Amino acid sequence: MQLQQKTITTPECKNVALVAHDNMKSALIDWAEKHKDKLIKHNLLATGTTGNLMQKQLKVPVQSLISGPLGGDQQLGGLIAEGKIDVLIFFWDPFEPMPHDPDIKALLRVAAVWNIPIACSVASANFLVSSPLFKSKFERQIPDYDTYLQERL
Ligand code: PGA
Repeated sequence: MQLQQKTITTPECKNVALVAHDNMKSALIDWAEKHKDKLIKHNLLATGTTGNLMQKQLKVPVQSLISGPLGGDQQLGGLIAEGKIDVLIFFWDPFEPMPHDPDIKALLRVAAVWNIPIACSVASANFLVSSPLFKSKFERQIPDYDTYLQERL
C-alpha cells in the first residue's frame, strides 16, 4: 500500500497516552511525578492499571481505558487510528514476555503508521517532554487515505 502523505496540525493541548508494563510502572510513576507540571497541561489517557495508579499517586485526572492484557493496547491503537492520540509514552518491559505481545506490537505499529511521537524509555520520554513542540502546535505528516481512495475508485 503506497499512500501519499498529508500534513495536519497537532494542537497545543494534546491527548497524551501513557502505558507501562507491571515491572515498569514505578519508573513511569516516578517519571510522571517529575514532569507533572508539563503533563497536566494536556489530556492524559492510560491503559487501565497504569491510569488508575497515576490518578491515585499523582492526583491528576487520567482517563483510564481497558487494562492492557484485556484489550487496552488495542483500544489505544484504535484511538490512534481515529486521530485521537497525539503522543504515546509506552514503557514496555524488555525483560519479560507478555501474553498480549501481539497487541503491543500492533500498538507500536499503528503509532508508527500515524507518525505520532513515541517514547519507550525514560531518556526518550525526557527528550519528548523537553521539546518546545510538547507545549506548542506542531505539524506532522499522516497517511492521506482520502486521496488514495479517490485514485482507486
Ligand atoms: P495496564 O496495561 O496499564 O492495565 O497494566 C498495560 C499493558 O500491560 O499493556
